[in-house]
Amino acid sequence: MIIVLLGPPGAGKGTQGERLAEQLGIPKLATGDVLRAAVREGTPLGLAAKAAMDRGDLVPDDVILGIMKEALASPTAAKGVILDGVVRTTPQAEGLARVLEELGRPLDAVLVVEAPDEAIVARLSSRTVCDVCQRPFTGREPGERCSIDGHQPEGTLVRRKDDEPEAVRNRLAVYQRQTAPVIDWYRTHGAPLRFVDGMGTLDEVLGRIRVSLGI
Ligand code: AMP
Repeated sequence: MIIVLLGPPGAGKGTQGERLAEQLGIPKLATGDVLRAAVREGTPLGLAAKAAMDRGDLVPDDVILGIMKEALASPTAAKGVILDGVVRTTPQAEGLARVLEELGRPLDAVLVVEAPDEAIVARLSSRTVCDVCQRPFTGREPGERCSIDGHQPEGTLVRRKDDEPEAVRNRLAVYQRQTAPVIDWYRTHGAPLRFVDGMGTLDEVLGRIRVSLGI
């Protein structure tokens, strides 16, 4: 199954994508995770992407298309892949369509996880992530230890730079300007679009996602 997860930052795509990938037994590709790892490792990709990411702006489409192509052609994606935050502009949607056509694979669903702006700002401003395993937490303070079982070295919770209020405001504006039109692009191209309310408990949202996908 190839599923594109769309939706504003902080709607829960990452968390739900992780659970969905686990349940379907397929990997999740999150370009944000790939780029953050590149920044941490100080690779040329990371150095090129860091400033745009810190501001909450998008990195160039050709960079994303390169990551997307490589991931889809990999044997680990043979059974499918959950694409989390990967398609964020119309050129990226066109690029993904071309890659899937070349690979002879269908796009099974475009799942839009929705949440109101106020809820997003509240969620992101109280989010911390482990600096080692990158797992997100809500309502836990920077400096606390990560509670995820036994990874070494033990992690410390930090605030993502792009979760600072100014960057969050910019990310929401970028979403409206550059990513929301992707939904219309998929609609006019007859893609299997599904809309899911991202508010509620993790289980409630996952339940809605499963119903909307018929799984
Ligand atoms: P995320 O973890 O999905 O919130 O992504 C964090 C940041 O990585 C975004 O604010 C962008 O700067 C960059 N990024 C991730 N995915 C993309 C994409 N598909 N297109 C452009 N920039 C992206």
